[in-house]
Amino acid sequence: MLVSFKTLLFAITAISFCTFIALFGRLPAFRDTPIGSLHRLLLIHIPSFLRSVDYRFCGGHVSPALARLGNYLMHDKHPLVLIMFIGLLVVSECMFIPKAWPRLGSGHRLLVPLVATPPYIYIYLAATSNASRITASNHAAQMRAYPYDHVLYKPGIQCRTCKLLKPARSKHCSICKACVAKHDHHCIWVNNCLGRDNYVHFIYLLISVTVLLCYGAYLGYALLSQRLKTEISRPSGQHWSTGMAWSLYFQYWSWALSQEIRIGAVGLLAFMCMPLSGGFLIYHIYLIWAGMTTNESSKWADWREAIYDGLVLKASKTQSGQSRSNEAVESEVKWPVSSDQLLIHRSVLEVQDEGEGTGDKWKPIYSLAEVENIYDLGFWDNLHDVFWNRR
Ligand SMILES: [Zn+2]
Ligand SMILES: [Zn+2]
Repeated sequence: MLVSFKTLLFAITAISFCTFIALFGRLPAFRDTPIGSLHRLLLIHIPSFLRSVDYRFCGGHVSPALARLGNYLMHDKHPLVLIMFIGLLVVSECMFIPKAWPRLGSGHRLLVPLVATPPYIYIYLAATSNASRITASNHAAQMRAYPYDHVLYKPGIQCRTCKLLKPARSKHCSICKACVAKHDHHCIWVNNCLGRDNYVHFIYLLISVTVLLCYGAYLGYALLSQRLKTEISRPSGQHWSTGMAWSLYFQYWSWALSQEIRIGAVGLLAFMCMPLSGGFLIYHIYLIWAGMTTNESSKWADWREAIYDGLVLKASKTQSGQSRSNEAVESEVKWPVSSDQLLIHRSVLEVQDEGEGTGDKWKPIYSLAEVENIYDLGFWDNLHDVFWNRR
């Protein structure tokens, strides 16, 4: 049983780790780290190796079908992952709760439904909200939500698909086939884009799932350890594992797991998934603190690299006279900060400068700290924006 316990532990760790790499590996923060390299290995190098094996041995018949399947799974709107997510929750709870219920005290019997229900509510709200999508009827209101910062978002750009001017902080999602206000990311777990309206539900979902996982792991541990306590006789007041060698300790745990397989497996799964949802939650709290969406964090990362390479120049908007054209639109925006900065890539300036000779107002910058993020109002105001500035 010891072997199977270790195998189970190893399998769950490996699956959690691969999921972590697949989900987080492409984040700019991990770009030059082993996690970023593993992400490239998992999503670029291994698939291309498999493709070459397919061409060599199967005449290249397998990979196009797999690529279509992969493309469908990753880039099409379908509820497969959402169904899997809900299915995993339902199956785990059906395995765990009926077995644990008779042994729970009245406090826990009250707590279990309170902890188990919220994830379903927030999955439903995040998955079904369409209010972040930009339509002809809400376009004017979305244009007034945020000012253009002239760094990540420039005025006057039209979405080629929706034929509407892109509001600041919006992005067209090719999966949802719509422009999404304050676009964060397209989330395959809820099969919807997270934007200005439903991002808050996603935050609640992360909190409720993290709480559920912590609680499930705790209950699993408590019930198994209760079982061990009754099986192993010890002088009163002494913990069942006091003075026990590690190998024996693990043997007892694997024995308890074999006796309580439903509670043990679900508790272990909850324990292994805790870092995933907790990590995601911490990352999004960081994004709120920094006044960024996931989409913007990768845009900032691109600017950061260009700035480090000495390729970026900055100018003041008022001095350059560019403020006039968009002043009327921008004065209607209900945001306390407006932008007086313009950023340009050296190569773009060189092309422009040939005709206009406007080179001297641009000054090179060497750190991202020299660029203002006008969407960052400080943690509490950013939080207020996430919770209350939704329509
Ligand atoms: Zn669009
Ligand atoms: Zn989307």
